[in-house]
Amino acid sequence: MGKIRVRFAPSPTGPLHIGGARSALFNYLYAKNTGGRLILRIEDTDLERSSRESEENILASLKWLGLEWDEGPDVGGDYGPYRQTERLDIYKKYIERLLAEGKAYYCYCSEEELEFERQECLSRNEVPKYSGKCRNLTPEERKKLEDEGRKPVVRFCVPSSREILIPDKVRGDVVFDSDGIGDFVIVKSDGIPTYNFAVVVDDFTMEITHVIRAEEHLSNTPRQILIYEALGITIPEFAHISLILGSDRSKMSKRHGATSVVQYKEEGYLPEAVVNFLALLGWSPVGEEEVFSLEETAEQFSLARVAKNPAVFDMDKLRWLNGVYIRNCPLPRLAEMALPYMQKGGFISSEPTQDELAWLSLVVTALQEKLTTVGDIIGFMSLFTGDDVVIDGEEELELLKEDTFLPMATAFCENLSALEELNPVAVKTLLKGLTKELGLKGKQVYMPLRVALTGQKHGPELDYLISILGKETSKKRLSRTAEQAGLKITLT
Ligand code: GLU
Repeated sequence: MGKIRVRFAPSPTGPLHIGGARSALFNYLYAKNTGGRLILRIEDTDLERSSRESEENILASLKWLGLEWDEGPDVGGDYGPYRQTERLDIYKKYIERLLAEGKAYYCYCSEEELEFERQECLSRNEVPKYSGKCRNLTPEERKKLEDEGRKPVVRFCVPSSREILIPDKVRGDVVFDSDGIGDFVIVKSDGIPTYNFAVVVDDFTMEITHVIRAEEHLSNTPRQILIYEALGITIPEFAHISLILGSDRSKMSKRHGATSVVQYKEEGYLPEAVVNFLALLGWSPVGEEEVFSLEETAEQFSLARVAKNPAVFDMDKLRWLNGVYIRNCPLPRLAEMALPYMQKGGFISSEPTQDELAWLSLVVTALQEKLTTVGDIIGFMSLFTGDDVVIDGEEELELLKEDTFLPMATAFCENLSALEELNPVAVKTLLKGLTKELGLKGKQVYMPLRVALTGQKHGPELDYLISILGKETSKKRLSRTAEQAGLKITLT
């Protein structure tokens, strides 16, 4: 076989959907795995619903996910143009051929006539299907209808009683009966071809070898195969990937969580986590390991391991994976991702100072283990800002009532005031020294201090916490929580 060429062909009628992203990813992985090429084609023949804004969103989302293409509207290529509305001349040639060979015909039926036919079918308990009324119009009849000012569509002549076989790489052989398909429209009355026609001409002229797309297009495939056959052109291989279902096993929708890629970006998911998660939605690796980079996935990817049954979108798994990637993320990158959330939350100014950035870096380090999404950072900020702390419960309060607490907290405040430079290393040394100096056990220092500083027994490492809070806030918090335990710390 020649070089493998696959394509992702989104309709720019909205932001990139999670299902679309998965189709793009599977095409990308297949291309990378086989040394083939990925083509990005914009299917914008629905003029009313398509927009450049959506196209830009789709391209930006794909790039954010790290999926690159070899040919497309932005990067060009030898098979362009890559937007369907710029390919109308190409389609024309093929339409004329079908019309000349009697494999397609002009249809002048009005909306009302078609609706009437539809209702008639329904009343006979039949699946609505165009009757083929305009198939055999004489030139005179056509002229008459044209003189009435009717604008025709072009319909494809569907051969009767044909079995159409799709040897699908994922689903196995799928068979359709042509009698279930009425003569369908291939060119609308405004002269623009329909999806089913344009896609065939494009896949052929762009020399696409494998069409990997969502299962919802499976019912379009027999129509497309009939067009390939009528034009006498090579039919590509097909692989229809299963639907994505929500956790309740109904079709994935907004009810189940964010559906567009950009929403995941905005919520603070890492693109690597989203891509890893999407790869596992329908494809399964050979071993137990589930955390893979895009490159590693591409090395292993095969259509043979793409499942036939629907994939269930497991939000908990995505969150878990995101946590894994956050923990492996280099701190400067994590801080950079956290910055917009912190600015929006009012914790850092719009033109951050060096001090603010240094502070952010401490915050991110302290929370790296705890974040599930980068956006979660805001939920933790009460740990680090404000002088007042609410003690979680009785058990926590009891820790402050231990005899050792007051002298320890007082000494801590003194040592903290005396510290020349506040940073995690200095705080660590201070705490060690304090434990030794007072002859205490670690648990008589660390746990009560954490409670006194945050109200909670568990939380970020004290060396970071104290460095983030700063000397004054740390001391204020300590004296205020001590008061809640009926104690008074004399601040120096
Ligand atoms: N333009 C179609 C869509 O966005 C994709 C068609 C195809 O892959 O053949 O659903």
